[in-house]
Amino acid sequence: MTERPVEELLAEVEAKAKQCVACPLAQTRTNVVFGEGNPRSPLVIVGEGPGEQEDATGRPFVGRAGALLDKALREAGMARRHVYICNIIKCRACVIENGRVRNRPPTQEEIRACAPWLDAQLTLIKPLVIVCLGSPSASTLIHPNFKIMQERGLWFSNRYAPAVIAALHPAYILRQAGEAYEKAYRSLVDDLIAARERVKEIRRLMEEMKPIVPEGEEQMRLF
Ligand code: SF4
Repeated sequence: MTERPVEELLAEVEAKAKQCVACPLAQTRTNVVFGEGNPRSPLVIVGEGPGEQEDATGRPFVGRAGALLDKALREAGMARRHVYICNIIKCRACVIENGRVRNRPPTQEEIRACAPWLDAQLTLIKPLVIVCLGSPSASTLIHPNFKIMQERGLWFSNRYAPAVIAALHPAYILRQAGEAYEKAYRSLVDDLIAARERVKEIRRLMEEMKPIVPEGEEQMRLF
């Protein structure tokens, strides 16, 4: 029996996710932001949730935070097409304050309700390395009560990947100024470089253990 391509399987999951009403965020969203990138990538980046522009376009990390992530990826020698990017929740979480709509962190109930979609993505993609952006993502995928300032840049593993690292969220970095901004941005680039290097290291170990390397994709030569 031939296995169906991951792209096809992921597209089926995405089509179902787009109909999801498992939590109240379904009532306020414009679009379900499922995720995008290369589903055959060994590196998956998992952020917190869609913001205003992501909700409007249906694409992850397209606002200012997305531009910063793209810049950091470039500095780490990668581009979006080399990785897969998604969030722990697929619909925008927001509140209205003084007549203005503002993003808010997802609640535990929302994260739990959305977990089957993230589970399906990571189970199908089978990454070698996951980069969690920000504390809610790290608390979901690494361990509860993750302390982002103390534990970012350290290596963990989970049931989805042999290597998992947390980095500062680009939206947090954008709220910093001067030296604090430079330091935070540099830490994001360093963590992405570490993630890319870790993929190479795991691939080397896999090749040593099993001389038959799976079919090479052009983008995999990066790692
Ligand atoms: S956030 Fe997740 S669980 Fe809630 S409606 Fe959107 S897709 Fe469904």
